[in-house]
Amino acid sequence: MYMPDIELHEATTLERAAEFKARYAPNARLLAGGTDLLVDLKARRINVDHIVSLNRIDDLRGVSQTKDGLRIGALTTITQVGNSQLVRDRFSAILDATSRMAGPQIRNVATVGGNLACAVPCADLPPILTVMNASVLLWSPEGERRVPLETLIVNVRKTILRDNEVLTAVDVPTQPPRYGAAYAKFSLRDGMAIAVASVAAGLTLNKDNTICDARIVLGAVAPVPKLVESAGTLLLGQPPGEAAFRHAAEIAMKAAEPISDVRGSADFRRELVGVLTQRALKTACERARETVA
Ligand SMILES: Cc1cc2nc3c(=O)[nH]c(=O)nc-3n(C[C@H](O)[C@H](O)[C@H](O)COP(=O)(O)OP(=O)(O)OC[C@H]3O[C@@H](n4cnc5c(N)ncnc54)[C@H](O)[C@@H]3O)c2cc1C
Repeated sequence: MYMPDIELHEATTLERAAEFKARYAPNARLLAGGTDLLVDLKARRINVDHIVSLNRIDDLRGVSQTKDGLRIGALTTITQVGNSQLVRDRFSAILDATSRMAGPQIRNVATVGGNLACAVPCADLPPILTVMNASVLLWSPEGERRVPLETLIVNVRKTILRDNEVLTAVDVPTQPPRYGAAYAKFSLRDGMAIAVASVAAGLTLNKDNTICDARIVLGAVAPVPKLVESAGTLLLGQPPGEAAFRHAAEIAMKAAEPISDVRGSADFRRELVGVLTQRALKTACERARETVA
């Protein structure tokens, strides 16, 4: 497989990136780390004549603390997220996803923005960041808009991004006391393997040890990361434990819309959702307790 002839435009500002993208739309794609896009171009899954590199827009890189929580610039690599002390100290559930993504070489170039904007169902960051109530910033010459992450992806490889829009950052709010989150992934190998199924769970405990808030998001078992609100609602007011988590897992299994492919059958994926939901909830609960220990 060879790369087709493509014109590369290197943008040094967001304005230039939006201008190039809009000028050649729908025949242009933004380029970040290229670990998805270049593979898709070679495989002819995507056919465009222009790519617009964001790599010279330094403002899009980095992890920082804001007054409301954590900001990760779209061009920040998965390795940089994993190495961030702020993430390690206060948003460590994200590491469940970054530590199991691909291998070190890919993580060194693959970006957070690319992982969200590629809208591939098995991508690792959308479930855990959605569970943590993340929002994304979408910039265009008309202005910036903030949208909840769960509304970004609308179908397989389809997002709400407009032709002249760039995803510039993802914001994760500060988590309340007695909050814990976790991401559980099943893949066919330990390294360099995408998710066959994955589940992210987050919950907050009341002082009396009942659950006051819970979110569960499924990955790789539906066209988009699937927020199962009914499973979260079911847990409200309940003491955390095996019975409650099993019940939530049953709801999550019903909500999954898995397909069969070379990595596993739909039935197998649904079973995985049950196991992974309980595992993620258990870990999230342990972490919630640790915040007040
Ligand atoms: C061997 C291998 C293993 C992999 N394993 C995993 C894995 O385990 N888990 C996983 O989740 N992924 C995996 N991936 C997929 C990929 O590495 C990730 O999805 C990665 O985060 C994509 O980021 P990127 O910067 O390379 O995106 P790119 O390939 O540059 O772009 C991907 C898409 O997003 C768009 N885009 C990129 N940045 C922006 C932006 N700022 N604004 C708007 N649109 C944008 C591009 O136009 C393109 O359509 C793997 C890939 C390979 C090649």
